[in-house]
Amino acid sequence: MAGFSILQFGQTGQVGRELIGQANLRNINIIALGRADVDLVDDIAITQAIENASSDVRFVVNAAAYTAVDDAESDQDAAFRTNHLAPAAMAKACASRGLGFIHLSTDYVFDGSGSVPYREQDAVSPLGVYGHSKLAGESAVRMAHGSAIILRTSWVFSPYGKNFLKTMLGLASRRDELSVVSDQIGCPTSALAIADVILDLVCRHNTSNPVPGGVYNVCGVEKSSWYDFAKAIFKELEMRELKRPVVYPVTTEEYPTLAARPKYSVLDCGKIEAVLDRALPPWRDAIPRCVDVLIAEGFI
Ligand code: NDP
Repeated sequence: MAGFSILQFGQTGQVGRELIGQANLRNINIIALGRADVDLVDDIAITQAIENASSDVRFVVNAAAYTAVDDAESDQDAAFRTNHLAPAAMAKACASRGLGFIHLSTDYVFDGSGSVPYREQDAVSPLGVYGHSKLAGESAVRMAHGSAIILRTSWVFSPYGKNFLKTMLGLASRRDELSVVSDQIGCPTSALAIADVILDLVCRHNTSNPVPGGVYNVCGVEKSSWYDFAKAIFKELEMRELKRPVVYPVTTEEYPTLAARPKYSVLDCGKIEAVLDRALPPWRDAIPRCVDVLIAEGFI
């Protein structure tokens, strides 16, 4: 076992589940708190969980969030309590106990009017409630904890929870044709890759060369539209001679959603790659494992 433990908020989500799995593989003790242990709308419970954590806990990771982007438009209070006040309470409690803190944020802090990959210092301007709540969380974390690490990521997928890859695979056997938005450009990111980055950062923290606090972009390599992402998912089914639909491109205007999405949210990951001294993995490489897991679980 590593000589330290991680306290994690969020047990059941995509990144949370991959973190638990990867920490176990690396022999790092991880104590993951679910909603039944601490409800994130209760900042006193959050503070107590951190104050009462055992002395071998060196890092707190927040893998929990209100992630229902469209629901947030009519559920502003819950989105802000979970994405703003909860991480603020975590950061404050970590700072007062001298613990490291890693928090996750989103490409939806940008309005998507750019056309070159966003860097960490670029101007933010969220389009919807979810993006605003996550941005408020970022600011509060930075105010409360000078060396907190905030990882902005995008288009997360995994075999767990709800995500685009699972939606496509769920539709594959039922539909002969499918229309998917082709004019939103971003970077799919496997939750497994995010978990590996978090654990690399935590392990680095215990060396003489800890990672400076601040915002870091973390996403899968190679930009894509949702349409191209869908085609890559169905290519995997084709290789396995499984049923898949024909995919047609549509515009955002033809597929309206409650919350507006950025048209372009590619993140420049040069800063985290320099810190980790490695490239982030291509998102396409993570698709076969997701399909393997979902076949084994009977989802496909
Ligand atoms: P998920 O939606 O898969 O999981 C969210 C987790 O938060 C679940 O474990 C959920 O628990 C927990 N949670 C939500 N509300 C509460 C609450 N009130 N109390 C306790 N736990 C709660 O999230 P992801 O793994 O996809 O996302 C991880 C991070 O990455 C988040 O910060 C998100 O904003 C960010 N991100 C995600 C993207 C995506 O495409 N998913 C894109 C960009 C950034 P329960 O199961 O009980 O509901």
